[in-house]
Amino acid sequence: MATPKKKISKSRRNMRRFAAGNKLAAPTIVTCPACSEPTRPHRVCACGNYAGKMVKAPKAKKTELASN
Ligand SMILES: [Zn+2]
Repeated sequence: MATPKKKISKSRRNMRRFAAGNKLAAPTIVTCPACSEPTRPHRVCACGNYAGKMVKAPKAKKTELASN
């Protein structure tokens, strides 16, 4: 498989992205089915939901912990 000879530096990568009218840099946003928050696809949401399943306990705030 053909591979790049050198790693593209952050500077060159960013220059390419901005040269393309910033189209490549725009992230895809999906809506979480559980909490309807905008999130990145294929990533666990902040509420702990992934692909319609709860995979992680949501990050509880200190105020919530005090009430429990
Ligand atoms: Zn969510």
